[in-house]
Amino acid sequence: MKDRFKAIMIRKDADKQTVEDAEIGLNDLMEGDVVVAVSHSTVNYKDGLALAGRAPIARKFPMIPGVDLAGTVETSSHPDFKPGDKVILNGYGLSENHFGGYSEYARVKGDWLVPLPKQFTPAQAMAIGTAGYTAMLCVLALEDAGVTPDKGNIVVTGAAGGVGSVAVSLLAKLGYKVTASTGRVEEEGYLKSLGASEIIPRSELAGDPRPLGKERWAGGVDSVGSKTLANVIASLRYGGAVAACGLAAGMDLPTSVAPFILRNVSLLGVDSVQMPKPRRLQAWQRLARDLDIEKLTAMTQTIPLSGVRKAADDILAGKVRGRLVVEI
Ligand code: NDP
Repeated sequence: MKDRFKAIMIRKDADKQTVEDAEIGLNDLMEGDVVVAVSHSTVNYKDGLALAGRAPIARKFPMIPGVDLAGTVETSSHPDFKPGDKVILNGYGLSENHFGGYSEYARVKGDWLVPLPKQFTPAQAMAIGTAGYTAMLCVLALEDAGVTPDKGNIVVTGAAGGVGSVAVSLLAKLGYKVTASTGRVEEEGYLKSLGASEIIPRSELAGDPRPLGKERWAGGVDSVGSKTLANVIASLRYGGAVAACGLAAGMDLPTSVAPFILRNVSLLGVDSVQMPKPRRLQAWQRLARDLDIEKLTAMTQTIPLSGVRKAADDILAGKVRGRLVVEI
């Protein structure tokens, strides 16, 4: 184990946030019963928000950002983990009130860790990351709501983003017909290669929502929120459901009760951060079974730790296609 190692650190002085390359030691890390040598992390939308200080993600300062990490257990006093075990961690307050993944070592609670499924390398697990694990949680929510492939098309909003790209791939592999909604229509070829059968421009779902629209979709995975989600709800078929996980267009939801009381539709909330362990394990098992590794590779770019700040700006500007892996 190194005495001193690299980490990215967010500091806040007099309301001004700065991000710096730091060199720290194990004693600087937070409480926990497992030390992980971090090999990979990733950049999610939330990481972009944290690094740019655009939303109050970090609650303590200084803070090491990075909501995800993958690596190898270095030391452990937790009964489930021993040195050499490959592990992943998604969420659980990393980058909020506990140091996150942009660091060569992390000391965390063993209860937060998930064993790396044998089907994935640490880099592939981070290509999935919180975005992909959340896409799987959305698919599980739709399945639980009885949305099966025979019921009709599924719309995925923010389709060229991280959650969207993984959701399109998973749903297509499971036999659903997927309508991909995107602001980047030039990505039609990319989205079709992931399995989308139809592409619609983002603008089609961005207008002022009416209480009820034409019944178009049996289900949806929405990472956009605001009017887009309201339009999806108004366009669900009778008995349909949409899994809502994101706010790329805003936190508001200008909808009415009409689709719920007249079309029996459901709005399924999806949170990945505090999701209890059994559901996490289920999601990772299903990712190991249902995610096409070739498609995952096709949607992923790899960047060094030094590229994280630029990537954060890019993801907030909607310029990142698919997923980013960070080599620590
Ligand atoms: P990405 O930036 O990779 O994807 C978001 C996509 O949304 C963009 O690629 C773009 O897709 C679309 N988009 C961006 N801005 C707008 C806009 N103003 N109006 C309409 N569409 C827009 O982010 P992630 O996939 O990492 O995360 C997506 C969302 O899900 C975020 O809001 C994130 O916070 C949330 N999230 C929530 C989780 C949870 O636990 N609930 C977990 C993970 C993510 P396109 O170019 O195709 O239109």
